[in-house]
Amino acid sequence: MIDYHLHTVRCCHARGTLEEYCREGARRGLKEIGFADHFPLDMLDFEPPVKVTMEGKELPQYVEEVLRLSQNKEYPTVRLGIEVDFLPGREKAAQRELSSYPFDYIIGSVHFLGDWDFTNPACAVEYQKCTEEEIMVLYEKYYFLLEKLVESNLCDIVGHLDVIKKFGYRPRNGAVHLIEKLTGLLKDADLCIELNTAGLYTPACEAYPAREILESCCRKGVPVTLGSDAHRPEDVGRDLDKGLDLLRKVGYREIAVFKGRIRGYLKI
Ligand SMILES: [Zn+2]
Ligand SMILES: [Zn+2]
Repeated sequence: MIDYHLHTVRCCHARGTLEEYCREGARRGLKEIGFADHFPLDMLDFEPPVKVTMEGKELPQYVEEVLRLSQNKEYPTVRLGIEVDFLPGREKAAQRELSSYPFDYIIGSVHFLGDWDFTNPACAVEYQKCTEEEIMVLYEKYYFLLEKLVESNLCDIVGHLDVIKKFGYRPRNGAVHLIEKLTGLLKDADLCIELNTAGLYTPACEAYPAREILESCCRKGVPVTLGSDAHRPEDVGRDLDKGLDLLRKVGYREIAVFKGRIRGYLKI
C-alpha cells in the first residue's frame, strides 16, 4: 500500500526524523511513501500568528533529504511531495517556487480562511462563537476557496477535501450543493483527491472526505490516492486498510500514484 501524506519535524507541529518515517513505512510493508510537508508560508509573504511550516531557507534541505532517502533500498519507494496552502492571489508565486524542484506530486490544501488557521486545534475556539447560519457561511467560504484552488492549476492532488468538518461543526442541512459543484470542477480540471485517514482521530470522527463526497467523485471518475497525514512516525500507514475498504465499497478499483507529477494507477 501507499501513504502519500507524511509531515516532518520541520513544520514545527510534527515530530520524528525522516528516517523514522521511512523505517515505519518499511516495517508496515508499504510499497510507497511520500513526504508532503507544509510548503514554507514565508515564501508566500504570509506569516500566520502560529508558525506551522518550515521556513523558505529550509526547503532545499528538505528536498535534498527526501531525495537522499529515496536512494535507500531498505525503505519503500520514497516520493518527494509537498503540501502547499492555497492563498488567493499568491498562487502564481507558489507555482514559481515549486517549479524549481523535482516534486513527484503537489498536494494543494486550504487551511486558512483569511488569517484564521481553522484546522489548528489552538484556533478552534472560533467555531464556538458561530451561529448555525455562520457555520453554513464558513462552509461556503471554504468551498469557494477550494473551487479557486481547483481552477488554479497549482496542484496534482487536493488535500483533505472536507477538512472544514474537522472539529465537528456541520451545517444542519449538509452541503450537498457545494460538493456536487466541486466534484464536477475536480473532474474538469483532471485533478486527484486523497482519502486522508487523519479525520478518524478528530471530533469529526470520519476520514476526509466523507463517503457521500467519495461517491460523487467516484461517479464522476475523479481519481483518488491515499494518505495518513502522519505528524509522527508511528502514524505512518495508520488506518489505510480502513481507507481502502471504504474506497472499494464506494466503487473505486484503483488508486493514483505519482512520479515526476505524472499520474499512474495501482489496482486495489
Ligand atoms: Zn500539519
Ligand atoms: Zn493539511
